[in-house]
Amino acid sequence: MELRILGCSGGEAEGERLTGLLVNKSVALDAGSLTGALTVPEQIAIRHIFISHSHLDHICTLPFFTKNVFGHVEAPVEIHALPETLDVLRRHLFNDELWPDFSVIPTKDQPTIRYTEVEPERAYEVEGLSITPIRVNHLVPCVGYKVEDGKDAFIFTSDTTITDRIWEVANATPNLRLLITEASFPNDQEWLAEASKHLTPAMLGQELKKLKRDVPVGIYHLTPGDRPEMLPELEALKDPRVRLLEQNAIFQF
Ligand SMILES: [Zn+2]
Ligand SMILES: [Zn+2]
Repeated sequence: MELRILGCSGGEAEGERLTGLLVNKSVALDAGSLTGALTVPEQIAIRHIFISHSHLDHICTLPFFTKNVFGHVEAPVEIHALPETLDVLRRHLFNDELWPDFSVIPTKDQPTIRYTEVEPERAYEVEGLSITPIRVNHLVPCVGYKVEDGKDAFIFTSDTTITDRIWEVANATPNLRLLITEASFPNDQEWLAEASKHLTPAMLGQELKKLKRDVPVGIYHLTPGDRPEMLPELEALKDPRVRLLEQNAIFQF
């Protein structure tokens, strides 16, 4: 399995892209950086996009992506997400007001994108991968994803505050090679992390006690302006599994 980190920042700034992962060139998790990180031919190669939740930093390149691939795809690109998330996309994004409704363009029968509902804890088989949504604890309905290819697995928690189920799933995944999770705000902004349902490095430290596996833990979603404060706080956890997830990194499992 090849995993490419298109973007992993909690905010956008020059050289820092929003959340997006690409697996085996044809399956994306979240769409915060599809157009900024990929050439048009690379975008056209994407067949499935699994969205974790409706927040803008995880979906914002979908409109520009659909415009780029329009007319170049033989079958619709499938957008997989919770029903609540798809509802937001339908009502607030592809609504002909903010952006044209590419789920009926060019035609209803052969559209550019097709919405597919996912149900937590159910495995979806696409492009030789098995992808399982796991519910996490965020401000809006949100799922992380376990991605497996029959040999290896990784888990992306997406945005979450204190949660349990995805750590249980990680502990029960023997072939787990990497876990990606978040830290969004510095320790002195715990009130903000609690209000917006994210984690600080200290809260992450508590969460990592639930992970009984010796696997690399890639941290993403740092707020760009808070990085200098947060990096020492992450180091202070003294957890050898913890490392910063880096934009453009490619993992081969
Ligand atoms: Zn979010
Ligand atoms: Zn986010």
